[in-house]
Amino acid sequence: MSSIDEKLQDVYDEVLRRNPGEAEFHQAVREVLVSLGPVVSKRPEYVDAAVIRRICEPERQIIFRVPWVDDAGRVQINRGFRVQFNSALGPFKGGLRFHPSVYLGIVKFLGFEQIFKNSLTGLPIGGAKGGSDFDPKGHSDAEVMRFCQSFMTELIRDIGEYTDVPAGDIGVGGREIGYLFGQYKRITTRYESGVLTGKGLTWGGSQVRKEATGYGTVFFVSEMLQAAGESFDGKRVVVSGSGNVATYAIEKVHELGGTVVACSDSSGYVVDEDGIDVDILKEVKEVRRGRIADYAELRGGDVRLGQAGSIWDVPCDIALPSATQNELNGADAVTLVKNGVTIVAEGANMPATPEAIAVFDEAGVRFAPGKAANAGGVATSALEMQQNASRDSWTFEHTEERLAEIMRSIHDRCAETADEFGSPGNYVAGANIAGFVRVADAMLALGVI
Ligand code: GLU
Repeated sequence: MSSIDEKLQDVYDEVLRRNPGEAEFHQAVREVLVSLGPVVSKRPEYVDAAVIRRICEPERQIIFRVPWVDDAGRVQINRGFRVQFNSALGPFKGGLRFHPSVYLGIVKFLGFEQIFKNSLTGLPIGGAKGGSDFDPKGHSDAEVMRFCQSFMTELIRDIGEYTDVPAGDIGVGGREIGYLFGQYKRITTRYESGVLTGKGLTWGGSQVRKEATGYGTVFFVSEMLQAAGESFDGKRVVVSGSGNVATYAIEKVHELGGTVVACSDSSGYVVDEDGIDVDILKEVKEVRRGRIADYAELRGGDVRLGQAGSIWDVPCDIALPSATQNELNGADAVTLVKNGVTIVAEGANMPATPEAIAVFDEAGVRFAPGKAANAGGVATSALEMQQNASRDSWTFEHTEERLAEIMRSIHDRCAETADEFGSPGNYVAGANIAGFVRVADAMLALGVI
């Protein structure tokens, strides 16, 4: 694995000291610092004005109690978080994750990634993330509603169209955004559509927002393929996960001529050589909120249910890890390379471990990091904010064209920046540097705040 430039080592040591026990946050910071060596050589003012040290410290962190009453009348307690990481480019922007694994270190890693991702979109949005250790799985709609109402009753102090605009992430979809928006509207007595994104189409949402992260990842890969004179035609693709990102990535791969032969959830994976049937997947996951085994049962035929080993044992040309952080490790990467993978693009946030990325590098596999490849979700959130601000709503075709353009420009910016800083073909370096420079220049302009 590459190392951190000596001028930045004390920044990293300070991050470790200030944020003990937050392994995912350390990992996310390290990956960015490793890329910034060539930048500080050219632009020492970023070190002199402590821009990099400041970027590693959130502007504001909020932790709150979320009490709610379950269907049996018992009081339940969860913990809520919002980390407002950086607002140099615009209001804080980033999703909420409801999952039992959520703690401050996860929220900080996600918030930190979001700064650079949002910068790469070229749109005026700062970086933030939030969430709770609440698990919507296994709870009734009424319980999810009461939880969301209690969560918003606290969060409301810190968000707003011009301050901080949350959205969804793992465990937070249209249902949760609806309950959160409802409670916001009730408390403020104002219809402020621009306070949340990922809303439903009849109450201020944008076309393509639901599809945007998955579609965007596939548009990004399409640009990588085109840059090498290739296309999705005839490509075998594996997509891990079966949530919002994975579902719409699969849909778009099929539209562009590739075949997705496997997808997964935390209970296992399915291999469907004829191509995953997206309608059945949506029925299982969006309507029934069921498990991946239900897909195999509904689909019938030759679908294989894999429980031993991992989805990364399934041979493919292109792998799109779209489930969660650190789901693809060094050993998985070795298997993928052995089986002939040529492109890996992160649909999820930080799904590949540093060891896996090193294996891909070594083998010449083209690798796209999440902050570039999955930026389509938040970019379309910014388009939703634009529509809310102008009280307009755009067609599906227009919005999808804007998304495709944004992904093209992120791809090109990453590729050009990697060239400029001496790492041609390295999308990790390109994304980290291009994302950083835009935020850093704004921070310099705004002074020491
Ligand atoms: N949670 C998504 C992400 O990781 C989207 C955030 C948003 O739309 O604000 O980028």
